[in-house]
Amino acid sequence: MRVSGPEVARVFPLLPKLPDPPPPRTACFTPLVDDAGEVLDEILALYFPAPRSYTGEDVLELHLHGNPHLCAEVLSLLATLDIRPAQPGEFTRRAFLNGRLDLTQAEAVEKIIHAPTREGRRAAVRLLDGGLGEAIGPVREALIDLLAQVEAHIDFEVEESGESVAPQLEEGLKTLLHALDPWVASRRTAERLFGGVRVVLAGRPNVGKSSLFNRLLGEERAIVTAIAGTTRDLIDRDVHLGPYPVRLIDTAGLRQTEDVIEAEGVGRSRRSAAQADLLLWVSDDPDEAPPEDLTRPCDVRIDNKRDAWGGTSGWQGEHRFVCAAKSDPDEVFEALRAGLGHLLGDVGGEESLTATARQGQALAEARQHLLAAQTLLRDDPDDLELIAEELHGAAHRLAELLGEIHGEDVLDRVFSSFCIGK
Ligand code: GDP
Repeated sequence: MRVSGPEVARVFPLLPKLPDPPPPRTACFTPLVDDAGEVLDEILALYFPAPRSYTGEDVLELHLHGNPHLCAEVLSLLATLDIRPAQPGEFTRRAFLNGRLDLTQAEAVEKIIHAPTREGRRAAVRLLDGGLGEAIGPVREALIDLLAQVEAHIDFEVEESGESVAPQLEEGLKTLLHALDPWVASRRTAERLFGGVRVVLAGRPNVGKSSLFNRLLGEERAIVTAIAGTTRDLIDRDVHLGPYPVRLIDTAGLRQTEDVIEAEGVGRSRRSAAQADLLLWVSDDPDEAPPEDLTRPCDVRIDNKRDAWGGTSGWQGEHRFVCAAKSDPDEVFEALRAGLGHLLGDVGGEESLTATARQGQALAEARQHLLAAQTLLRDDPDDLELIAEELHGAAHRLAELLGEIHGEDVLDRVFSSFCIGK
């Protein structure tokens, strides 16, 4: 249990064996007593005086034995001292407000806790280390320098000063865009890494979609039968493909049907295919083309039941895979998983990965302002007022990104996804 704020001093008398205040940053073994002096637990207490603590305030950690009864009792005891339970993410919010972290680092804390794959967690750790602030802080400073030069020219009038700021401005904009580009370019990868990907298996009835679904999952989830129309609704399951958290979706076979339930299933299959990040078209006839009326082109064609028509298992180029869902060994499906992960994009060497939609959005908008400034400069290098406006826009978005400018609503949104105690 973590207590933060000046109220921490009210708890010291409940730790009778320790000096008041306890020695800083030292694990101390002590009884924890209630107001009647009854020992509630034997605990480890850790005191972090401000400002060298997680929140930047006085912090006291009470390491209890964790029985829910005991925790409830200690919470009630703290309530008698006017110490209230924390809101979700409140400790990190206070850390941010006290300047211990910038907003991108605060967001990284939540991603470290919730990132669904190892790669996502590693990207989040880089952000917690200040990766985005370190990259973007200098960009923002350079941008403000450039803006100061432009505004000086506006104030002195171009004609009077005699020299144009255009060449400097052009060079400056190029450098700034160069620094932002990799972050903006990796936005989709970042969204997939943290937000997940929808992979849909579609095809005619009885071609082996459910068998394939089970092989990709490595378990018998979907019902497999020789009766066409067995899968009538969408079945989904979370798996990992390469570094990505994936929702794998098995659909009802696409065909004309009089059965109202199956027809609804077919409608859902089509809608699901339309929304897929990766659409896999499964067929048991290598000569049959995917239907023209499929809501979007498929990304990978999977030719199944190769045992029946004599094909060889494995990838045939980047967008065609041959297999026998019923009889091929696991390695074949391992190759399919790896190939699909690769199609979704590699993240291996990506140093510039954002972690939240808010970050991606702010960077993309800052870049848009810089591009607009570049266009204005080309069209009319003397129109410095409009150019300055775009530079202001970009600087504003970067300040928002790092949380130097923020509204309470933004903070509420950022911290609402945290759990209590973080
Ligand atoms: P779905 O309707 O497309 O989901 O297809 P299912 O996965 O239910 O499979 C339909 C039938 O095809 C079942 O009888 C499966 O056992 C059979 N099947 C699936 N994969 C293969 C395969 O690789 N080879 C052969 N010969 N039969 C298969």
